[in-house]
Amino acid sequence: MIKVQGLSVSFGAVQALRDVTFEAPTGQITAVLGSNGAGKTTLLRTISGLKAPVGGTIMLNDHSLVRLRPEDIARLGVGHVPEGRGVIGEFTVEENLRLGAMMAKVNLREGLEEQYECFPVLGERRRQHAAKLSGGERQMLAMARALIAKPSALLLDEPSLGLAPLVTAQLMQTIHELCASNNLTVILVEQNASSALRISDQAVVLHLGSVVANDAAGVVANDVNLRQYYLGMVG
Ligand code: ATP
Repeated sequence: MIKVQGLSVSFGAVQALRDVTFEAPTGQITAVLGSNGAGKTTLLRTISGLKAPVGGTIMLNDHSLVRLRPEDIARLGVGHVPEGRGVIGEFTVEENLRLGAMMAKVNLREGLEEQYECFPVLGERRRQHAAKLSGGERQMLAMARALIAKPSALLLDEPSLGLAPLVTAQLMQTIHELCASNNLTVILVEQNASSALRISDQAVVLHLGSVVANDAAGVVANDVNLRQYYLGMVG
């Protein structure tokens, strides 16, 4: 479980997060939604130690994450798949996965086997440069590179960005299955609210750095005001 309490983050005069509080339970998907500039990316970067907060606490089970270095937070079991996926295009699929395993010091052969079993298309393309993959395949590679480290929590930043609706639907189904089969704590940042809400257990809606809703995904999905004013969902 990840528990965020009273979290505030600033970039100089810009307050990106204000007093943000929510819980992301183990084995469930928590969607973090909101328009451009709402603070979604900043929230994930703060959880994984890439940005220091000015106040508040972040707990991964019994461990406080605030003021730890990103590599120590990763070692405690937080995997971060950044916006834009962060895979290295000049490296092959397997070299990208090796990098993920090396940082986490896990058994490489076992880790690769597990990921190729989970994502067969990556096994088929193991010797191809990552730059040659489709957007959906690159997103799978980014997730596999995080999963090879055997995290207990997975932070996903806009996984559907730039993907066609059908590919997005398949990817969301994969995220749902991964969460259930690995008992992961998933925090799913998305601008594509309807796709994220379909697979999430609960949702946190941010607006200008503040939480404007924190409820079951079904409740958020059916709230006309949230849909219209904060989620850009018409109808
Ligand atoms: P998007 O979907 O566009 O990425 P977001 O919800 O992820 O939006 P953030 O990127 O977290 O939002 O930005 C939140 C606020 O913090 C915005 O006002 C943004 O301009 C500001 N901000 C983010 N990163 C920086 C930075 N490195 N320097 C200065 N301001 C920043």
